[in-house]
Amino acid sequence: MDTVVEITALGEDRDILEAAVTDAFSEMKRIEAGLSFYLGDSEVSRINRSAGIEPVEVDEETLGLIQESIRISELSGGAFDITFAPLKEMWNYKSPPKRLPTEEELKPYLARVGYNKIKVDPSGGRVYLERTGMRIDLGAIAKGYAVDRAILILEKAGVDKALVNAGGDLRVKGMVRGRAFQIGIQDPEDQSRILGKIRIEDKGVATSGDYERFFTLDGERYSHIIDPRTGFPAKGSRSVTVIADTSMYADALATAVFVLGPERGISLIESLQGVEGIIICETGERKTSSGLEGAVEWFNGEPAGSSAP
Ligand code: AMP
Ligand code: MG
Repeated sequence: MDTVVEITALGEDRDILEAAVTDAFSEMKRIEAGLSFYLGDSEVSRINRSAGIEPVEVDEETLGLIQESIRISELSGGAFDITFAPLKEMWNYKSPPKRLPTEEELKPYLARVGYNKIKVDPSGGRVYLERTGMRIDLGAIAKGYAVDRAILILEKAGVDKALVNAGGDLRVKGMVRGRAFQIGIQDPEDQSRILGKIRIEDKGVATSGDYERFFTLDGERYSHIIDPRTGFPAKGSRSVTVIADTSMYADALATAVFVLGPERGISLIESLQGVEGIIICETGERKTSSGLEGAVEWFNGEPAGSSAP
């Protein structure tokens, strides 16, 4: 998943904890193998290879995640869309375009984008991408899902205090010495610093930032998060942190809110039950959802990682 995964488990019995953590890592590797865009024999790759040709039988888990992705597309007005993937060729941050593409140049890419062109047949367990050249990429939701599954594996093993962190997509369970886990909000301008911290209990947290993968053109920063409605990289936010009941939901919503931009993004968060968020805008302004008022402890310039749980 192109990230570092860290699992913390606390308890009395070291052997049980170690076995549980090993199993949780295996589970995350299993999910990566099934859902990766880049591994040729993943379920996602099989679906993509059959685009415009035929429906593909997939397992229930993959089908469920695709349905969940479509649901998030609907509730975000198409800002979140796993069919955005053809646009990755245009906006490859490893070999970025020398100039901005014209609308005309983007057209053939946009023609292959659109979650309404994913056909899911739940009873037959099949998924079909209607147009040739369509591609899905679960990169904005799979990491969160993998974190949820790792937590589930730990729970099944009897672990009741844990933190699973996949490069900023994380979930916490339980409390340590009577206190909730403390999560730092990274400074998008300098990732060795945190801007503030917040305590959370039994929640998923995910952050989407334009500093993770990007390229610069004419002094402007273009991020890896693309607005599937325009075909251009999303603008307006530097980072979006979402807190929700699951890490999967937080992951997908953080990407959706990033695409929507600060104003519409914070409205989406406010409209959803049990979801909170923090947006750092391009202007440096910070927006916090109403449920977090007073919950974030802001400060200036403490080095990241200095605050233990
Ligand atoms: P995240 O870091 O969770 O925001 O995920 C970013 C990844 O999501 C990118 O690297 C892309 O693979 C994918 N992505 C980019 N734009 C979108 C979008 N509009 N909808 C869904 N996935 C996207
Ligand atoms: Mg995401």
